[in-house]
This record gives sequence, C-alpha cells and structure tokens, in this order.
Amino acid sequence: MRYFIFSDIHGNLEALESVFEVLSREKDCIPVCLGDIVGYGPNPRECIRAIRDRNILSLVGNHDHAAIEEIDISYFNPYAKEAVLWTRSILTESDFTYLRSLPVIRKLGGMTLVHATPCNPEAWNYMFTLFDAQSNFKCFDTQLCFVGHSHHPIIIVQNPNGECWVHPHTTTGITSDQRMIINVGSVGQPRDGNPDAAYAIYDDEQGTVEIFRVKYEIRKTQEKMKRHGLPDYLIERLELGR
Ligand code: ZN
Repeated sequence: MRYFIFSDIHGNLEALESVFEVLSREKDCIPVCLGDIVGYGPNPRECIRAIRDRNILSLVGNHDHAAIEEIDISYFNPYAKEAVLWTRSILTESDFTYLRSLPVIRKLGGMTLVHATPCNPEAWNYMFTLFDAQSNFKCFDTQLCFVGHSHHPIIIVQNPNGECWVHPHTTTGITSDQRMIINVGSVGQPRDGNPDAAYAIYDDEQGTVEIFRVKYEIRKTQEKMKRHGLPDYLIERLELGR
C-alpha cells in the first residue's frame, strides 16, 4: 500500500490544489492529512471542503482547534492570532462540526499519525531537538510516526540501541530494525527556506518514504490575503518559505 501524507495546509487553496494534482496522478495511494487545514491563509472554507468532499482521512491541528475555540489563543503570536480570529469569523457551523469531528491521533497500517507529537498530542509541543524526538519515540508503538506542526520536513531515525539521528536526506529506505519519526513539512506555509508545497509518500511494500515538493501559484494566494486584509508578515513569508 502507498500512503500520500500531507499537513499544515493553513487555508492555502492554491498550494492544496497543486498537491491534489499530484495526488490525482498517483495510482492506489491513500491520502492522509495531519491537520491544520485552516489558519493563516485566505481559503479556510474551501480547503475544508476539498478535504471533506474527497473523504480524506484527516487529523486535527492546533490552528483548527483554535479556529473552533477549543483552545486558548493567548499564546499565539499576534499575526497567527489575527488570522485565527479572521478564520473563525468566516467558518460556518458545518465547518465547526467537521473540524470538531477530527481525531488528534490515530494509527493506520503500521503508522502512528499525529499533528504535533505522539507524547501528549494535545499539548501541541514541537520536536525541535533530538532530545525531544528521543522522548517521543517512547510514546508510540508502531515502527513509523508521521507528524506535521513545525512546517520543517525532516526524517529522524532511531537505531535498535535507542540512539537517534537526523537523516541527511528527505528520502530513505526503511530497514526492519529502525524506527522513524517523519515530519512531512507543510503544504500551505513551508518554513524551511523552500516555498514549494511539501508532501510525503510512504510505500509499505517497497519500504520507502520520500518527501516531495511541488510549486504553486504563490502570487495568487498572496493577492487574496491582501484583499482580506491579512497581516503583511504572513503574506511575505509565503514566497520566502519562512
Ligand atoms: Zn501548522
């Protein structure tokens, strides 16, 4: 089986459509969304609809929870807060119901899927260091764990002796004695210096995982954001991938 895993769309419809164009050419691939469908971008409703109408298995992210008032947004930075409040103001009751129905963590075909971290997923912590990763390997019992949240694509490997290391590439074969945490990056707001939308394909028969990038019409998204009066900082960062 092949899985097409993506995360952090953040209301960026152009980026999501580019990713879906790739998905439509992939045969027998199960799509999975790791959450943060909304927040930051100008098309939260359309992104929800695109995922819901395709019956894509999706998790919930912290920005989704923020938009439907499930979490306190006082710790959000001012730009994120402004975008969340704008998003909240345009979502409908059925959008709220849909986001509220999404799970925080789940298992699928030998994978653990979660937006932030397998340890205490609703704390919305980040995995920034190998130390963070090491403790998170203790919180799932599958070989692989796919995450989003940081918007930085990365593969972290754990050897049988418990030692963790950052894979130097974004593609790898999976040996039976290694475990991995794979951050699939962000569709709608990459922050690794590459503005292209990110997604991953996991092939459990070949035993491979690879993170890909695809271009989208950034200008179009930026123009919509300007029209809606969203913060300049959020508009500019898209083209920088920061
Ligand atoms: Zn996010």
